[in-house]
Amino acid sequence: MPRLPIIAGNWKMNTTPHQAVALVGEMLAELDEVRGVEKVLCPPFVSLGAIERLIQGTSIKLGAQNMYFEEKGAYTGEVSPPMLAELCQYVILGHSERRHHFGETDELINQKVKAALAFGLNPILCVGETLAENEAGRTVEVVTGQVRGCLAGIEWPQGLVIAYEPVWAIGTGRAASGPQANAIMGIIRDTVAQLYGQAFAEGLRIQYGGSVTSANIGEFIEQPHIDGALVGGASLQAAEFIDIVRQTATLKRG
Ligand code: PEP
Repeated sequence: MPRLPIIAGNWKMNTTPHQAVALVGEMLAELDEVRGVEKVLCPPFVSLGAIERLIQGTSIKLGAQNMYFEEKGAYTGEVSPPMLAELCQYVILGHSERRHHFGETDELINQKVKAALAFGLNPILCVGETLAENEAGRTVEVVTGQVRGCLAGIEWPQGLVIAYEPVWAIGTGRAASGPQANAIMGIIRDTVAQLYGQAFAEGLRIQYGGSVTSANIGEFIEQPHIDGALVGGASLQAAEFIDIVRQTATLKRG
């Protein structure tokens, strides 16, 4: 079974609620028309409700950028899995900005992945090495360690998507090369096969993330282990994001 490509736009901490609605308005009709690619918008929490209403009845899916693992309670400022499950299909977990600015560890991310799965949310689990780790030749060790750590004790992560995002490529304009990313993603797929078997690993969708634009998406999408992209900066420009989604549909069909 071929894997359905998935392009997700991570808006990070950009757009006010009014700006978010306007941005979706610019993309909605054209994105909705593209077939053969799953399209996921991940705006800030405060815009999820409004965007959920806007995209109802379309082929566009919604994701959050983070989540706490407890169901409810005295966790001021946090957002829980059931809150998101009413609005979203996806949740980004373990983004490198969460790991580096907010000290998220594989252990914490593991609890979040478990909670997302328990509430029917599909986790987009982010892994990736820093520049120092890359230069020290530790990429495989770091990335496979993150995959194993974040999936520890999880019996069957149905709906899981993994995003391989080398930290040095995020927001830097310095993307990995297609073959470079594909090689690491093949190793991620092998690691998942060791955990859940070959059939599960063959069905797992793995995205590349890190300075993806309409100018370089083709280089990634043509690689066998790359099933889409997690797009940051370029997802905030409607025409650019639509172009990335359209190219993905064309190339993966081809
Ligand atoms: C991201 O936010 O996950 C990301 C990959 O950002 P950018 O595309 O801007 O590098």
